[in-house]
Amino acid sequence: MKTEDFDRYRVRPSTNVSLKKADPAETGAFSGGKDEAAGVLGELNKKLGGLQELLYAERRHKVLIVLQGMDTAGKDGVIRRVFEGVNPQGVKVSGFKAPTAEELAHDYLWRVHRCVPGQGEIAIFNRSHYEDVLVVRVHDLVPKEVWKTRYESINAFEKTLHQEGTAILKFFLHISKEEQKKRLQARLDDETKHWKFNPADLPERKFWDAYMKAYEEALSRTSTDEAPWYIVPSDKKWYRNLTVSALLVGALEALHMEYPKGDFDPRKIVIE
Ligand code: AMP
Ligand code: MG
Repeated sequence: MKTEDFDRYRVRPSTNVSLKKADPAETGAFSGGKDEAAGVLGELNKKLGGLQELLYAERRHKVLIVLQGMDTAGKDGVIRRVFEGVNPQGVKVSGFKAPTAEELAHDYLWRVHRCVPGQGEIAIFNRSHYEDVLVVRVHDLVPKEVWKTRYESINAFEKTLHQEGTAILKFFLHISKEEQKKRLQARLDDETKHWKFNPADLPERKFWDAYMKAYEEALSRTSTDEAPWYIVPSDKKWYRNLTVSALLVGALEALHMEYPKGDFDPRKIVIE
């Protein structure tokens, strides 16, 4: 497996994304199946652990990972499985829910900007500023004239982060409506999963097509060379995890990081 094989999921800048044409169940960048993928993911977990340590030691780059997707698409699952080998000290996860009164009193980027990574850190966004052109658009939470301007301000925001040394990767976890139904049902069938089931999410299924349209426009207009989107086939959890992991490892390897040299000669130091 080569991490470049997964580059096929990157949205090229200024393309018109059609989610109907992206099969959420395909596994085309990996020749093996689920069992083989588990071994490969284990290897990638180890690699990611090493790369994160290097990132932390070097303190030169900042890494921002944005996770978006419909309910049950697997944002939490990715965080759990892809970051298994990573030292929790170097990673911070921020989840973005419906804004509080204080957040609503500010511009929509205010709450996310304070959560971006510092030098040597990886920040993971479980939902993000993209909700402000997704749920906000689907449910008319602000006037169209307002959300229409946001694609431009998102691109400017991400460009700034990039210019200031942040590597940005954005993953849209693409599941089918049928797969979501199965996953919601599984949550109902298992008492230990009831905490994950929110009856208020059910009416959202009626808005599926409107969400897909909102996602298509967001993916089409905000995938840039500095901050690319990846459409991750996510009906199969093992493939979703493998894809995100491979893309992330590939992106971190491309930073060509090195352990900093000490400003001392270790041969001249004697520890009594
Ligand atoms: P969850 O991630 O499943 O815990 O759900 C969080 C909920 O917050 C989702 O239904 C999101 O659509 C919603 N949410 C996140 N950001 C916003 C926002 N800016 N405006 C309105 N709702 C939001
Ligand atoms: Mg939810």
